[in-house]
Amino acid sequence: MRERLSSDTYIDGILAGDRVILSRAITVVESRLAEDKLLAQAILNGILPQTGRSLRIGITGIPGVGKSTFIEALGIYLTSINKKVAVLAVDPTSSKSAGSILGDKTRMEELVKDPLAFIRPSATGLSLGGVARNTREAMLLCEAAGYEVILIETVGVGQSEIFVKGMTDFFLLLALPGAGDELQGIKKGIVEMADAVVVNKADGLFADEAAQAAATFENALHLAQAGESGVAVKVLTCSALENRGIPEVWETVQQYVATTVKNGFFSKNRAAQQVDWMHEIVRQKLEDLFYQNKEVKKQLHGIEEEVGAGKMLPAEAAQLLLNLLFKI
Ligand code: GDP
Repeated sequence: MRERLSSDTYIDGILAGDRVILSRAITVVESRLAEDKLLAQAILNGILPQTGRSLRIGITGIPGVGKSTFIEALGIYLTSINKKVAVLAVDPTSSKSAGSILGDKTRMEELVKDPLAFIRPSATGLSLGGVARNTREAMLLCEAAGYEVILIETVGVGQSEIFVKGMTDFFLLLALPGAGDELQGIKKGIVEMADAVVVNKADGLFADEAAQAAATFENALHLAQAGESGVAVKVLTCSALENRGIPEVWETVQQYVATTVKNGFFSKNRAAQQVDWMHEIVRQKLEDLFYQNKEVKKQLHGIEEEVGAGKMLPAEAAQLLLNLLFKI
């Protein structure tokens, strides 16, 4: 393990925009060692006043839709207009697949070299809840380091897109040309979560199909109820590969922000996210307390067997275990 610095050194380094220190601080918040948890808390407390001013954008879509290519194109566009951009990922599959989204070094080659950009691969080997918690904290560290736009990528496997939706201001769904099939390929409910649907690969042979896909999404979304944000979901097309339609995506994000700041949804949404996050931490801590409890550890296996064998009802067993924890 690399040597740890004092919390003040991390805090000062982050606030000064030092990327190496930022990286090392993210490693601390990702660590599961007890002493690092204390250090992480001290760092987070120290930088907290400098957070919350960045724009948080979630980007999802099925594998192969072009998320990496799109994020690189959008990132390069943003740095070209002098915005500092951080890219994070919530990728629960990255511990298993070698070709993970950001772990793959051949991706985002240009953006990686950009001095205004910071790219951090997803933490691996954790539960999705753990990855999501780390990503939230990494996001705060990036904000304190002066990154104005945070792009959070997720493959949309399982619950990850819900976590990302819960930590971002704007949620963008990337889709493929070829409407009919595509609408089914996208998980149910995900379209309703989106603030914009962007049909990527609108180039060459795919151009017509992309326009068709966009029209199909328009129709589908037209039928849906107006979202809580008070802003109609925008459908766009782009080519991440050929770098077309990217400024229009940014324009859409900015319009959304302007409207929702004005109608109050922006801050209402952030406030609700903070409260949700608090509950999430309570849930996680309770779960940790439960499974780390000595008495629970001792009896869990035996009780599992009884339940499995049908000798004890699940509810009864759960109560018995909980009683061990709370000594009720
Ligand atoms: P991800 O799995 O969603 O991150 O997708 P990638 O960014 O890795 O892209 C998957 C494949 O689609 C790659 O071969 C890209 O070169 C290709 N691709 C990405 N964007 C575009 C685009 O706008 N047009 C075309 N024609 N291909 C693209």
